[in-house]
Parts: sequence; structure tokens; C-alpha cells
Amino acid sequence: MVRDDVVGHILQLKAELLADGRVRLHPGVSTIGIISAPTAGPAAGESTVFIRLDGSRVRLRLDDHARVALTAEGTLERDGEVIATGVKLEPVVAHCPEQVYTTVVPGCIHKCAFCALSGHVAAARSEEIIISRIEHAFKSSVVVPVALTSGVSPDGSELDLCVRVVNRIKDKWRVVPVGVSICIKDKKDLERLLEAGCDEIKINLEVADPDILRKVCPHKDRDAIIALMKEAVEMFGRGRVCSNIILGLGESDQAVLDTMKELAAIGVVANLRPLEVTLAVEPALERALGIGGFARPQADRLIRLAEAQCKILAKHRLSASGMDTMCSACTGCDLAPGEDL
Ligand code: SF4
Ligand code: SF4
Repeated sequence: MVRDDVVGHILQLKAELLADGRVRLHPGVSTIGIISAPTAGPAAGESTVFIRLDGSRVRLRLDDHARVALTAEGTLERDGEVIATGVKLEPVVAHCPEQVYTTVVPGCIHKCAFCALSGHVAAARSEEIIISRIEHAFKSSVVVPVALTSGVSPDGSELDLCVRVVNRIKDKWRVVPVGVSICIKDKKDLERLLEAGCDEIKINLEVADPDILRKVCPHKDRDAIIALMKEAVEMFGRGRVCSNIILGLGESDQAVLDTMKELAAIGVVANLRPLEVTLAVEPALERALGIGGFARPQADRLIRLAEAQCKILAKHRLSASGMDTMCSACTGCDLAPGEDL
């Protein structure tokens, strides 16, 4: 889709950049404070930067062979052609701009085929290190929202740790919004997080198509996740619960639409997320799905689905920009209704 208005132009450009997913920086671009090396999420293990296109943020993986390049003067080029000027790199607070998004356990016993943490057992970070990271971020920038994420540890200690950290954040900085994105087991987990002061929750379904979900996330039970989401909405409120849905695993548009509707009907906002295709996850994806040649979704598909999501959210009186933390606040990896369109 080509639009002639400014917002439409930025939307198109962001969609094209997300579809490609990579950028290289010209010599002379200062990298101080702008590189994020995520330890969880779609780009775990990669170096990424965030660029600002007017009101839109885009997170891109650094790659010396990327078609898209950013010059020291803020010009964005693709294959040598100028595609945008006045582009800025955004400073990263912790993982992303304007937010402390930190990982509690940088490994996971589960084996989601698309995830770089899959099957890597790692020790939980200490509570003191997490708190000092937050304090450090608050000293070096304005006070920003905090989000905690985690893989699943063998002893399941990430929940206790998150509860303690959320308690300490809320004791010290009562007004700071806090979001948590971990594997929730049951209603009790949700109650403990709510009691600690957690404001928002992410419960990741990850995959729209139930058959593909079974193949790429063998431990996930779709019905149980939907049931937990309903409990979470009752406790945290409509629009305060979100869920990643990955695009690019072979799911149909219809499966994505159906899932977005199903989630919106219970008050949950989907974050539509292009598949991160890296050497670290490709073999596992091929084994799980019996196919190869994975690619990120094209720009027109990203726009088509994001536009459909706008309508679905409006019908259910939800706003993707109503959350203060996690991916809904960052918006670097997705076309975000309310922010980008
Ligand atoms: S549950 Fe799956 S997606 Fe989440 S950290 Fe573990 S392996 Fe990755
Ligand atoms: S959208 Fe989410 S996963 Fe992507 S950079 Fe922002 S916080 Fe991280």
C-alpha cells in the first residue's frame, strides 16, 4: 500500500524497515549509548539500535551487510538511495529507549523453536543486581517505566524474584509503572504479582495457529493460556494485558485475525511481531516445522494486519497505546496501533 500523507509515508517506511529488520551504521556514527544487546526477546544475542522516524520508533539489528544504512548526518539509505533524512538514533536506557526492560533469568528450560534462549539453562540474576541496574538507569536518565522479563529456570525461581523486585520498586518509586512478562503458571502467580504492585502483564501466546503452536512451543497449552489471560484481565484490567503473536511461522492471515479477535474479546492486546530469523534459531525452526527458508513478513502484510488490528481493537474499545510498559510502550518491533497508525 502506498499512501500520500506523511503518516502513511512513515508507516510504509517503518513496515519496510521491519520487514528487512537490519541496518548498518556508516563510519562516524557515534555508537555511545545507542546499542542494545538483548538477553531475552526476539533479538536475544544480537546487537540492535533504535531509530526514530518522526513519531515512530523502529528497532533494527546491526548487520554490516544490511541493505539499509544510516549516515552520520542522519540520512537513511537503501541500496545507496536516500529513503529518509533527519533520522535519529535513540539512546537506550536498558534494552530499549525510555524504559528499563531487564531480564531476570537469561535462559530457559522450554524449547520454543524461534527463541534464542530455548534450552539454555542459566542462573537467575541477583535481586541486588536487578535493583542496582534500575537505580543506575534512573540516575542517568529521567525515571522511566520498568519491565521485567524472564526465561523459565529449572526451579521456577523467576516468579519469586519478580515479586521481590516489584515490591522493592513500588516501595521506593511508587508511581513508576511496572510490567512483567514471564511464564505464568496459574492464578496464584498473577495474584502475587498484583499484590506486589505490578501494573501490567504480558502472557505470550506467541503463535496464532494452534497446529503451528504445538510444533514450535511443545510445552504451551493454548486453552490454558487463554484461561490465564482471562484471569489476568479480571485482575489487571482490560487493555493492561498483552501478548506477543509472531508473524512469519507459516500462519495464515485468517489465523492471525481470528486470534487477535479472540484476544481482544477478552480484553487482551496482541503485539504482532515479525519473526526474528537468525542462525541461532533457524535449525530449530526447520526441525519443528519440517520446512526451511524462513523469512520475515513483507511490509504489505504487516500493514494489512496492523490495520485490521486497529479495527478489532476499536470494536472492543481497547487501545494498543494504553499500556505504559513493555513492548506496547516501546513499539520498536511492531507496527503499533495508536502510535504508528
Ligand atoms: S518460554 Fe519459550 S519463548 Fe519464552 S523464554 Fe522460554 S523458550 Fe523462549
Ligand atoms: S518492542 Fe519489545 S521486544 Fe522489541 S525492542 Fe521494544 S521492548 Fe524489546
